[in-house]
Amino acid sequence: PQQAQLISPKTGLNNYIHLKKLGKGAFSEVVLSLDPTSSQKLALKIIKKQLLNLQHQDTKYCLIEAALLKEFDHPNIVKFYETSEDKNAFYIALEYCKGGNLLEKLKILGKFDEKTSAQIMSQIFSAVDYIHKCGVIHRDLKLENILFGKKDKMDVKIADFGSSYRKKYNERPKGIFGTQYCLAPEVFSGFYTEKVDIWSCGIILLMMMTGKYPYFGTCLNEVKEEILALDIKGIQSRIPEASPLLLDFLSSVLDKDTRLRFSAKDALGHPWILCFRRPNLPKS
Ligand code: ADP
Ligand code: MG
Repeated sequence: PQQAQLISPKTGLNNYIHLKKLGKGAFSEVVLSLDPTSSQKLALKIIKKQLLNLQHQDTKYCLIEAALLKEFDHPNIVKFYETSEDKNAFYIALEYCKGGNLLEKLKILGKFDEKTSAQIMSQIFSAVDYIHKCGVIHRDLKLENILFGKKDKMDVKIADFGSSYRKKYNERPKGIFGTQYCLAPEVFSGFYTEKVDIWSCGIILLMMMTGKYPYFGTCLNEVKEEILALDIKGIQSRIPEASPLLLDFLSSVLDKDTRLRFSAKDALGHPWILCFRRPNLPKS
């Protein structure tokens, strides 16, 4: 590899050779790396301490991300290899997803058809059902955090558990996490549950069908108004070609009433998902 570079020699992840940048988030950079001992390629997420507020809860979240990934074992969740820390950063070594993220894919394809969308959503809901059963809320499901395992296949994996919450006895999730365009309406009320992830999945699906962001607002207050105003009529007008089954599915996934909104398990049992289901999908 050109300009191979070794990361800090004192970490457990020391010998990885950095090949190229794969992506970037608010606090992290993800680098395609090579483990010279096994010749295996992997994605190394480098969370720079300089960008974190170490007095604050940020450190806790890095640790949570690694701990959750370590615990999870699901074909539609990115696999964890190892983690480490030095004075500059936290490092999380992950399975390399060759196909990039869903936002990049959407930009290339323009839109997805219903069949492909249903096959992708079925995998996402399968992973969401699994994490919810583990008592975890992802809180930042969005197109950038859904990765394609292979280049030209539609196998997807959920990534980025940096904002996730693990349910605790006698405690409720607090604070607004996640990214504006995928936020569920109840997040603004201060009381929310794992159903926020279902709403985010609905927004992901809406974007796959339209090829566009769902809102026009430029600040949180403007977007908040649009989120609170989103209804099935508005959804239908954005995708006039949608099948009745898809509209029925979206109306239950994007239901503002969290008691009526689908669970991940409900979503997996809906005919829109079932009629396109691939025979080899993992059982939830
Ligand atoms: P952040 O928490 O900073 O948002 P992410 O974990 O979401 O970081 O990673 C940022 C971007 O890096 C992703 O949107 C994706 O494009 C890329 N990326 C992350 N993990 C992987 C991976 N395992 N394989 C390939 N690309 C990845
Ligand atoms: Mg991310």
